[in-house]
Amino acid sequence: SPTTNDQYVRFVNVKKSYDQRNLVVKDFNLDIKKGEFVTLLGPSGSGKTTCLMMLAGFEDVTSGSILINGEPVTNIAPYHRNIGMVFQHYALFPHMTIAENLAYPLKVRKISASEIKRRVNESLALVELGSFAKRYPGQLSGGQKQRVALARSLIFEPSIVLMDEPLGALDKNLREQMQFEIKRLHEDLGFTAIYVTHDQTEALTMSDRVAVFNDGIVEQCAAPEILYEKPANSFVANFIGENN
Ligand code: ATP
Repeated sequence: SPTTNDQYVRFVNVKKSYDQRNLVVKDFNLDIKKGEFVTLLGPSGSGKTTCLMMLAGFEDVTSGSILINGEPVTNIAPYHRNIGMVFQHYALFPHMTIAENLAYPLKVRKISASEIKRRVNESLALVELGSFAKRYPGQLSGGQKQRVALARSLIFEPSIVLMDEPLGALDKNLREQMQFEIKRLHEDLGFTAIYVTHDQTEALTMSDRVAVFNDGIVEQCAAPEILYEKPANSFVANFIGENN
């Protein structure tokens, strides 16, 4: 059947086992629309990160399939999936300036110096760090470093951005500010966002839809207001209702 924009990223009967015995992802099905912001929400160890890793190509799928724009990811080299990634630990090179950190992956791919300059400036402007280009990571706050990590994830102008607890290391105020920045970037740039968190407030405020994970399965996938008003079962009700 033809693919539509409503099936831009598809997980179809995806199962994953790391040890050939226990499934950490049991039967994952999710269709993500082009430009949608979807969050995988659930407790630690429930399989959220594993789903991102399989989409990005860092982990194999044990069975089932993942498609991007109708194409099984196994047919697309990770390099060509056009995916940007942001993690909690930003891992910037400490001995390189911010501009050099951003330029590095472009240099590796033999992109011209003028194009690198354009992309680095553009990415830094996106996260409002234009004046920080010549600083070193050690001279930046945690929030600023996380913004550099965001800029780095956007440097290849990705159509899909995966974010795994990107704000987990930040304090509450900064987290709220960064949530707003991420939403602004998502709206301005129009990429498809898949976000992982165990923070229900973050999930509910940022997402078009939230998939609630529990021990390798999705208990419910719905818009925030539906999860809140019509939880499918007591796990969802309790998890969404928790305050932290
Ligand atoms: P967290 O929020 O703690 O990152 P998660 O929901 O993202 O949790 P995963 O990281 O996907 O969960 O882990 C799911 C399960 O798979 C866990 O039981 C974990 O121990 C296991 N697991 C994850 N990565 C590996 C690996 N590389 N090898 C073996 N087991 C793994």
